Amino acid sequence: MSISFKSAEVKAGDVFDTIIIGMGPAAYGTALYTARYMLNTLIIGETPGGQLTEAGEVDDYLGLIGYQAADVIKVFNSHVIKYKVPQLMDTVESFRREGDYYVVKTKRKGEFKSKTIIVTVGVKRRKLNVPGEQEFAGRGVSYCSICDAPLFKGREVVVVGGGDSALEGAELLSRYATKVYLVHRRDSFRAQPVYVKMVSEKPNVEIIMNSVVTKIEGEKIVKEVEIENIKNKQRRKLNVNGIFVEIGFEPPVDFARKNNLETDENGYIKVDDWMRTNLPLVYAAGDCTNKWLGFRQIITAVSQGAIAAYSAYKDLSEGKDVKENN
Ligand SMILES: Cc1cc2nc3c(=O)[nH]c(=O)nc-3n(C[C@H](O)[C@H](O)[C@H](O)COP(=O)(O)OP(=O)(O)OC[C@H]3O[C@@H](n4cnc5c(N)ncnc54)[C@H](O)[C@@H]3O)c2cc1C
Repeated sequence: MSISFKSAEVKAGDVFDTIIIGMGPAAYGTALYTARYMLNTLIIGETPGGQLTEAGEVDDYLGLIGYQAADVIKVFNSHVIKYKVPQLMDTVESFRREGDYYVVKTKRKGEFKSKTIIVTVGVKRRKLNVPGEQEFAGRGVSYCSICDAPLFKGREVVVVGGGDSALEGAELLSRYATKVYLVHRRDSFRAQPVYVKMVSEKPNVEIIMNSVVTKIEGEKIVKEVEIENIKNKQRRKLNVNGIFVEIGFEPPVDFARKNNLETDENGYIKVDDWMRTNLPLVYAAGDCTNKWLGFRQIITAVSQGAIAAYSAYKDLSEGKDVKENN
């Protein structure tokens, strides 16, 4: 899915109050607020809409009832356009301190200077890489139980994974679906015991260990998921309409390391309650941060963006500069 997009007419060497790195919901939420605080802002991102480009219907953002993800991106984008925030489609390779500014190096357009930086580079959701996964994405294949569980009321589904998000997903789905198969490739769960207990006690959840998904089939929507027991190689077909791939996220570890951003033990960018990172006048927001117990949603990404923008505005107003430690 693509949206019409006009890349900003900015030139290398231009100076900004803030540069937002990323172009997903967190970036849009940030830009709305930096613009309203009259900070001269530039957004630099690779994909307008971020992860939303992979989503189908979105029905959990307050006020946007049953919107297609493409339309959510358009709505967010148009709000930022209203405030005339330039958006440059490019990749940020790195940023460094130089004098009173950060210098942001992009892949194609050269370097830009900024007093503050707000990092909203998001995460990538891990994929199974099996036949049918891509074909049925958004037509039964989902990567977000919290987002899509209500769409599977009265149906049978598979949840794949063994960590907290898979077990939480299975628990939530068991409230909507008639039957949930929880498929995990190991013989024990990584998830917290409390989630394991909760799911094990659900009468409509069948736990299938030591097994992997080998194929997803269907017509208009998913009809069947094939799994294989990795110990005895036996295959089984599950007649389901949904498969929730909850096998984790890939946080931006390389980006953080390259730019000296401190991360938590899982690789997410560490921020304080005001979205400040370990670097002076550098903030982070959205899925890439370690905030809010990994509750990664549009609404939380946008909210973190608003907070980061406020912090940047406040810190600049109070005369903080790039040489100060937080
Ligand atoms: C299939 C799917 C369905 C979903 N459905 C829902 C839903 O219904 N409701 C809901 O609330 N949430 C949903 N989500 C989750 C939601 O999309 C994310 O929580 C949200 O997009 C996070 O926003 P973000 O801006 O933090 O990160 P992202 O959306 O990941 O955006 C990150 C942006 O940064 C860019 N970027 C990364 N590195 C660089 C770099 N070096 N230089 C420049 N740009 C860079 C990326 O290209 C991207 O534009 C869904 C996610 C998926 C994958």
